[in-house]
Amino acid sequence: MIWLPYTQMKNHATQLEVKKARGSKIYLKNGKTLIDGISSWWSVCHGYNHPVLVKSIQKQAKALSHIMLAGFKNDQTYKLSKRLCDFCKMDKIFFSDSGSTAIEVAMKIAWQYFINIKEPNKTKFVSFKNSYHGDTTGAMSLADLNSGMHKKFKKLLLKNHSLHLPRNLKELDRFEELLKKKQDEIAAIFMEPMVQCAGGMKFIDPKITKKIYTLAKKYNILFIADECAVGFYRTGKKFGFTHSNIKPDILCIGKAMTGGMLTMAATLTTNKIYNSFLSDSLDNALMHGPTFMGNPLASAAGNASLDIFEKSNYEEKIKDDEQFLKEQLTCLSNNPKVIDVRIIGLIAAIEIKGDFDLMVHLRQEFIKQGVFLRPFSNCVYLMPPLNIKRKDLKKITETIKKVLS
Ligand SMILES: *Cc1c(COP(=O)(O)O)cnc(C)c1O
Repeated sequence: MIWLPYTQMKNHATQLEVKKARGSKIYLKNGKTLIDGISSWWSVCHGYNHPVLVKSIQKQAKALSHIMLAGFKNDQTYKLSKRLCDFCKMDKIFFSDSGSTAIEVAMKIAWQYFINIKEPNKTKFVSFKNSYHGDTTGAMSLADLNSGMHKKFKKLLLKNHSLHLPRNLKELDRFEELLKKKQDEIAAIFMEPMVQCAGGMKFIDPKITKKIYTLAKKYNILFIADECAVGFYRTGKKFGFTHSNIKPDILCIGKAMTGGMLTMAATLTTNKIYNSFLSDSLDNALMHGPTFMGNPLASAAGNASLDIFEKSNYEEKIKDDEQFLKEQLTCLSNNPKVIDVRIIGLIAAIEIKGDFDLMVHLRQEFIKQGVFLRPFSNCVYLMPPLNIKRKDLKKITETIKKVLS
């Protein structure tokens, strides 16, 4: 029998039985239709079963579903590597199979970069409280291990610095002091630019991100942007870091990278980092290679997804949607149970007073009203497909207002 994610299996709610999904709609076996407010963990950016994606995968499956990346070159994967480097304005791309793995790879690249350039004591990472970088061992090490779901694994994990995100100049000064003191041991700063998603949809002032980036540069520390959640226009710009006008040393992407069709992620770097791995010895090379790395089917989905991005004007559309969400949802802050309403791009977060049981209750209420949302901790949020129609978006906002009142 199956074991479900983040679930107490002893008493979990019944799973909704899905028949099919199209665009922003999920069709259940019981005849009910749900409008999807969270794009299957933020991955299905062009809606479910987008015909361009389906066609691309079908065609690729007939020709070549999988071939290993060691020893073989296939067109889809090489084409995608070039296109994603252009899209992300990075120089080199290393494929993997999930966001967590992309983070592990980023850790290894940062760590080994400093070995390669003969600064082997730079072995520690900095991350921020409320950030989420994945569930594998290295990625868990970046979590806040004094609270949060990975706390019990503390003894297993790497000792890193999980810091409060600086919010003002004074806190930035204190942050700088730490970097200055520990610059000889810190390899990299991991950050979710613009929005810390799984950690509670916490927004970050892009000016603060810029400052953190500048300090990283000043102290010879790599800046690693984890864009698994907000990359590909979620916040209205191409990436979260685009708001800060910076260029990360290492970039992790996942989730929406294949339009949410197949599992694939990537770690991108600059030539400067990549070149440090070049030598006559395998010892300097990056010794990593997931079995399904660069899978041609997933690459076909990735290429088709980029085709859609090139043909659509998501920036414009999401700007309008953001305005609409503000008009619709800002009034919720008058509700005495609501602590905060935050909106950027196609993300809206409504923090409320309430516990886990209330969230479970709310989930069921939303479903009754024909909307799929999955509030967590104390946050009702929406992150629908980027191309969601206005009518469907309105149905979601009206349902939220109705249920919360
Ligand atoms: C989802 C997510 C990850 C992990 O990705 P998986 O594909 O679930 O392993 C890492 N970082 C961020 C910011 C994420 O949202």
